[in-house]
Amino acid sequence: MSLEITASAPGAPLEGLETGPHRILVVDDEVGIRKGCRRILRAEGHEVMLAETAEAGLKALREQGDVDVALVDLRMPGMGGLEFLPLAKKLAPQMVCIVITAYATLETAVEATKRDAFDFLTKPFSPAELLRVVNRALERSRLIRERNRLAADRESRLLQLATEQSRLKTIIDCMGDAVLVCNAEQVLVLHNPRALRVLPHIRKSGEIRKLGEVVEPAELFETIREVNETRKRVSREIQLTHLDEGGWVLANCAPVVDERSGKVLGTVTVLRDISEMKHVEELKAQFVNMVAHELRSPLAAIDGYLSILMRDMVQDPAEKEQIMGRCRERVKGLVNLVNDLLDMARMESGRVQREILPRSIGEVAEEVVSLMTPLAEAKGVTLDGWVADDLPTVEADREELIRLLTNLVSNAIKYNREGGSVSISATPDGPFVKISVKDTGIGISEKGQAQLFSEFFREKRSENQLTTGTGLGLNIVRRIVDFYNGRVEVESVLNEGSTFTVRLPSKFQSHAGIG
Ligand code: ADP
Repeated sequence: MSLEITASAPGAPLEGLETGPHRILVVDDEVGIRKGCRRILRAEGHEVMLAETAEAGLKALREQGDVDVALVDLRMPGMGGLEFLPLAKKLAPQMVCIVITAYATLETAVEATKRDAFDFLTKPFSPAELLRVVNRALERSRLIRERNRLAADRESRLLQLATEQSRLKTIIDCMGDAVLVCNAEQVLVLHNPRALRVLPHIRKSGEIRKLGEVVEPAELFETIREVNETRKRVSREIQLTHLDEGGWVLANCAPVVDERSGKVLGTVTVLRDISEMKHVEELKAQFVNMVAHELRSPLAAIDGYLSILMRDMVQDPAEKEQIMGRCRERVKGLVNLVNDLLDMARMESGRVQREILPRSIGEVAEEVVSLMTPLAEAKGVTLDGWVADDLPTVEADREELIRLLTNLVSNAIKYNREGGSVSISATPDGPFVKISVKDTGIGISEKGQAQLFSEFFREKRSENQLTTGTGLGLNIVRRIVDFYNGRVEVESVLNEGSTFTVRLPSKFQSHAGIG
């Protein structure tokens, strides 16, 4: 079959067609067609690859797949054009195929279209016809490439956005503070899991809700509204009275403003749980109040005694001495109180210097007995101690062990009766050493036992009205025992006596957070 080629008839490039070299594959068993096509297309500046058979065409694609347009003869020895089409598309998806046929029948046209052929060229064809069809195919190829590029670009942007969103979501979700994002209508559009603690009702009522309808406490809603209106950041402490467990949050609410229009788009509110801080503040205020109260009565008494003495209201030297003695007792009481307070403050701040070494409880008990004997004698109370032979040592600070035992023994003497007794004993108890201080004193009421270890607790009873004390001794005992991971218990029968039992581990385990 002959091919009429006039090299002088180049087709004008279509509008929008990328100029520059394109790669075109011609698959035809007719050498005249191959060469003719090559000449015409090369003259247009294209790179032309020739293949005599479909198999050779596929090989060329496999090796250099980046082909824009393929011109394929339908009838060739071996593999025909219709079979070639789907295989070629797999190798070069962006490639646009033009079918060359001698007989353009409707059936072959339909069949070729089904297999993704873009256009036909019926033999014989003129150079102008060739270029017209090729140029259209090149435009098509360009569009396919552009579409693919845009799709890939969009996909990568979406992927980037998704990654950023998920990163942001992970950060917000992991935050220890609650985060609430509202739009300008105060509709809650985003919150993190932590926000559910403060606003548990969000869970029930869905996420997108106008805050005013669901939000308690009202103060939070008011804060968000205020920020929307004033466009100013607000930082406010809010009490969570709507929660069973109560609590406080510090709400930091900031407006989100559109830079171009200056409009408020919404608000971001971060809620920090400050319940613990508030609790500590409250305890501190209570403590200061208690200390002031504890200082006031002895100071008032001292003031009273001193004014009696200064105004010479008492003439009798013996009576004078008695008043001075009482005055001194009160001063001693104040010194003890201050010492106890200093002990507590040191323990609280973690500034206690300890020398933790294996200590013999027998030795410590002996020292405490000798320290407390004058007090016991003055009160007419017998004091004895017994320590098991096989008692292991306890890893602890010696001063602290003495302070612990002294507090228990001095109480056992102070709250005893004339002729009563105090016994100290120490026995092994598994990994612990069990130290008991038993007295035959006034005992402690059940109500009193429940509060015994709290700061400034003193039982108000006629029997101990004249006994001085700070109400801090047992609190210090509990702090020391806690530091060593031990336990302290009390058993008491009113008017019969009490037994305080302390268990201390013989091996010290460091305990974070206790001073
Ligand atoms: P205080 O300096 O008042 O003795 P503590 O903290 O040592 O302070 O004791 C608190 C209160 O517990 C005492 O005021 C007393 O009412 C009661 N108490 C402590 N030990 C005994 C005891 N062995 N027998 C009876 N009451 C006791």
